[in-house]
Amino acid sequence: MLINKAGQYDVIVVGGGLSGMHAAIESSRHGARVAIISKKKTGKSGASVVSKSIHRFSPKDPSFKRTYQNKALEAGRFVNDRALMEVLIDNGSDSVENLLSYLPKLHLNKNSLDYLLSSNTAYHNPKKGIFLTSKIREYIENLASISIHDGFTGVEIMTKNNSVCGLIVENNNELQYFSAKCIILATGGYAYIYRETSTTNDETGDGIAMALRKGLQLTDMEFVQFYPYRVVSPAIHDIFPNLFSEGAIFLNEKNERFMADFPKQELENRDILAREIFKQKEVFLNIDNCPLSYLLRESPEL
Ligand SMILES: Cc1cc2nc3c(=O)[nH]c(=O)nc-3n(C[C@H](O)[C@H](O)[C@H](O)COP(=O)(O)OP(=O)(O)OC[C@H]3O[C@@H](n4cnc5c(N)ncnc54)[C@H](O)[C@@H]3O)c2cc1C
Repeated sequence: MLINKAGQYDVIVVGGGLSGMHAAIESSRHGARVAIISKKKTGKSGASVVSKSIHRFSPKDPSFKRTYQNKALEAGRFVNDRALMEVLIDNGSDSVENLLSYLPKLHLNKNSLDYLLSSNTAYHNPKKGIFLTSKIREYIENLASISIHDGFTGVEIMTKNNSVCGLIVENNNELQYFSAKCIILATGGYAYIYRETSTTNDETGDGIAMALRKGLQLTDMEFVQFYPYRVVSPAIHDIFPNLFSEGAIFLNEKNERFMADFPKQELENRDILAREIFKQKEVFLNIDNCPLSYLLRESPEL
């Protein structure tokens, strides 16, 4: 089979979401010539465009570290990968600020520990993640050292003498070869394999599969976050937790409020609530006690 050689780079980043774009910018800052290979449009695809907020991120001040660490462990039910958690805590703050420094018009809300521990959100835009990602794409378009290849699907990592030497990609039903000594896989997750999902249709675990085919070890693949607030019948509709502060409840097929005995009831952490929903045969959203004015304002579809 004839495969065209499409280009030679120092670094190939596979994936045009937030992680891929950030990795590309950082690589170019270190003097590398970079290609972004993205199945869908860079900066306009992946879960990054549908997420809304930069959530709690680690504080800069080392004296806050312990408190933050304990919170993170508790939220992770103490099965956190501690080494990864350290990386997040040590670098999270600088990394987020670094990313936002390319975009002078975007600011974090606040950077105090009180704020970070009491609020969920350091950056929020109701227009969803695409506001952030499209601005980062514009920034990248002005960097001569990064070339964007949209509509190119990474298929196979190539190696020679046990070292990476390039990537086979598919574009318009043709295979092409990009050579590079370094490949960064940033193809997102695999949540699109589920029947019901709010992620984008390019989340099919391609990078994970490519890594696995090369014999790389995958870890923690069972950790998938299920957002437990989605009505699927008579129409698909995402609902938001504040509906439950306004009187909504979940009932099962026996008309029982199965979350009644949990400390936070329907507002329990997502993993707990998702597990309880999964245990029921059927789950119904009951909004009889929600004020009509609230529903009309916040959730007219319901
Ligand atoms: C509905 C929803 C809401 C969310 N809300 C939040 C939130 O508020 N705050 C938060 O912190 N997180 C949130 N998340 C999680 C967050 O969006 C993701 O963790 C993050 O965006 C992942 O970024 P990424 O760059 O790794 O992957 P993605 O943004 O998914 O990007 C993957 C990229 O890889 C490309 N790609 C895939 N396969 C290939 C291939 N074979 N070859 C080339 N390119 C490929 C895709 O086209 C895409 O460009 C949310 C997720 C969802 C689904």
